[in-house]
Amino acid sequence: MNARLASFRNRAHLVVGEDNRLVDIEQASNGSLSSDPMLCLAKWDQVRALSKSVIATTDAPNAILENLDCPVPRPRQLFAVGLNYRKHAEEMGSPLPDSPLTFAKFQSALNTPAGEIPLVGDTCDYESEVVVVISIGGRNLGEPEAWNHIAGLCAGQDISDRQLQNSGRPPQFSLGKSRQGFAPIGPWVCDVRDHPKRDDLMIGCTVNGDVRQQTSTNDMIFDIPQLVSYLSTICELFPGDIIFTGTPSGVGHGHKPPVYLRPGDEIVTSLEFVGTLRNRCV
Ligand code: ZN
Repeated sequence: MNARLASFRNRAHLVVGEDNRLVDIEQASNGSLSSDPMLCLAKWDQVRALSKSVIATTDAPNAILENLDCPVPRPRQLFAVGLNYRKHAEEMGSPLPDSPLTFAKFQSALNTPAGEIPLVGDTCDYESEVVVVISIGGRNLGEPEAWNHIAGLCAGQDISDRQLQNSGRPPQFSLGKSRQGFAPIGPWVCDVRDHPKRDDLMIGCTVNGDVRQQTSTNDMIFDIPQLVSYLSTICELFPGDIIFTGTPSGVGHGHKPPVYLRPGDEIVTSLEFVGTLRNRCV
């Protein structure tokens, strides 16, 4: 089984089996791995090896979305890429970028897999995204080796305050995408290194059950190895760094007229093979 790293009661756990049992990593490894998810990401090959041998005891709790913490609680860097799907660039009225259009989300925006999203103003919007989690980082990583530097993928939401995002000339995206709770990720870090469809997974979201986004990641303009390689030529990557890889078409801002989030809305974000987030707007 592929390794899945969750945080439960602020401790690193493996998610094991079809029924998603939680196994405490520090205990299961007899202390050779840490209870801190960030330190587990730095020793990802050990986590992978443990996941192949570990068996959940009958009293192991099931992973319930509402009880899970953010699986990557303290990334040193949170990169985000804009306009990385062709149809989304079209709906935003923007030309296709010739290199990854990169901004930052700040760590204090991180949210849990079922955390509430406090809306500010009346132009907050959803963006379902694949989130890449780095294991061993480095500089100048080549595309062919990129997957060996990735622990796994999360589903994520790059919640955006469009008014704030687009204020100023030229616009600066980072603050408009970093309000409290604006970066739910999870439900766990799922290792897809050996998955035959790792570059062709469906990502999307519903709002109150209405399908808003649904696209395969093979439609990315810059694919995951290209993004990891490109960023590493500029910034050193560290274990636990995360990369929001861009949203497909269907965001509220692209509707005519635009449809923004309202208090009470429930956003369900799904990444094929990886998992689902469920976040309520308040
Ligand atoms: Zn985005």
